[in-house]
Amino acid sequence: MINDRPLRVAIIGSGPAGMYAAGHLLESPGGTLIDGELKQIVHSKVAVDVLDRLATPWGLIRSGVAPDHPDKKRMAMIYDSIARRDGFRFIGNVQVGKDISPAELSQWYDAVIYAVGADDERRLGIPGEDLLGSNSARAFVSWYNGHPDFSNLQFDLSAERAVLVGNGNVAMDVARILFSPISALHITDIASHALDALSKSQIKEIVILGRRGPEHAAFNYPELMELADLPDTAIIVEGADLNALPRSQNHEAQLKIAALAKLCKEKIQGNRRIVFRFNAAPTALIGEERVAKVSLINKQGEFETESELSAGLVLAAIGYRGLAIDGLPFDHERGVIPSCESRVVDHGVVLPGSYVTGWIKRGPKGIIGSNKKCARDAVIAVMDDATSGLLPLEGTLCKDQALQRIKERVATTVAFSDWHKIDMREQQDGKALGRPRLKITVSSAILNMLKSA
Ligand code: NAP
Repeated sequence: MINDRPLRVAIIGSGPAGMYAAGHLLESPGGTLIDGELKQIVHSKVAVDVLDRLATPWGLIRSGVAPDHPDKKRMAMIYDSIARRDGFRFIGNVQVGKDISPAELSQWYDAVIYAVGADDERRLGIPGEDLLGSNSARAFVSWYNGHPDFSNLQFDLSAERAVLVGNGNVAMDVARILFSPISALHITDIASHALDALSKSQIKEIVILGRRGPEHAAFNYPELMELADLPDTAIIVEGADLNALPRSQNHEAQLKIAALAKLCKEKIQGNRRIVFRFNAAPTALIGEERVAKVSLINKQGEFETESELSAGLVLAAIGYRGLAIDGLPFDHERGVIPSCESRVVDHGVVLPGSYVTGWIKRGPKGIIGSNKKCARDAVIAVMDDATSGLLPLEGTLCKDQALQRIKERVATTVAFSDWHKIDMREQQDGKALGRPRLKITVSSAILNMLKSA
């Protein structure tokens, strides 16, 4: 308790980083697991408001994790149980930096934790990148997951070849979704507009470009091995001889190379092909209005050659980037909010009461679980500062006042009970079609549905 009231913390973003932070702040009675031991990291009563710019919670679990990964989607059940703890409140459809400034939030709450993820993408920076048919894999992933910002995009899947630039896990997800049988996608929560477009896809070959050799491939072993299950699909390696590579000291790299070699050996036949092309970097996308070809520079030892590859769809899967929030410092080079031990830092000076966690702190790397420890570190920083008297406690609003102030800016906010209505409706609509869920992919439709519910 702070002055006989709970410590009031706002968390911005309800994805994994934000929800783990909420979970740590509303610590279960057993405590928090640190180095194999249960410890109490929260020593006072805490009330948490989780704000999200979308009407729906769970961030990348809903709009980034591939729909055919239900095990990862089930993380939402853990977040749902955190959201049911005493002291938790969800306030959706509120954009910090637009509807409310960070300075206002800092005044209204004792502490603010920014867990806004990486809402932007890296750019290739080559000519032709903005031609029709060229987009980011992030946009494609958000589109097939029914993210409202991307649901009106259209991807032309009528050409025979698609090129993915970059060979990380996002490229693996995209290749798998492009070549999964429609019957397999039908039983996932993939957006219906994407299911429809994929059912008409003419793509026969996906080329996955790696600008370096197989020993530097960015995919993980499990994500690579999932390609083994794609029916009628051959897997081919070009631009590198897997058998002639020097043995890597890196055990994981060695494992991945062996797995890729095995896949190529076992998946020889198929009407569809996935080509892992290594040591090949795009230098330009060529076409009139639409992309028609990719120019490549191919490296072989000391030598470099140029070549072209026809393609009707080019997706850059070269990583995500954080997006600056108006009123907060931003490291434009790294695409993160600058911080020191989870505390937001502006030109080397700590902003009292402001913290970061997740991709907006670390950059876009790691798996979902990486956010748990990251969020724990942020919560420990909040609690240390609370104990040391370093939080600016003056002017903090009580629970009702804070919501009232937010509602002065945003007429229609979304409560956690509203999310349950959306969730139920999506599941009911899906059931009627033999699907687990029919996502509502337009924000205004969600808000209208809530009005009439
Ligand atoms: P990533 O793992 O960082 O891979 C990016 C790829 O793009 C690398 O191959 C990189 O090559 C290449 N690249 C970067 N800049 C390039 C350029 N200018 N030209 C050509 N190639 C370029 O990114 P990601 O696949 O977007 O994944 C982001 C994070 O999400 C990762 O931590 C990933 O593990 C995670 N994720 C996990 C899952 C899962 O657990 N199933 C699913 C999706 C994403 P270099 O190595 O040469 O730079």
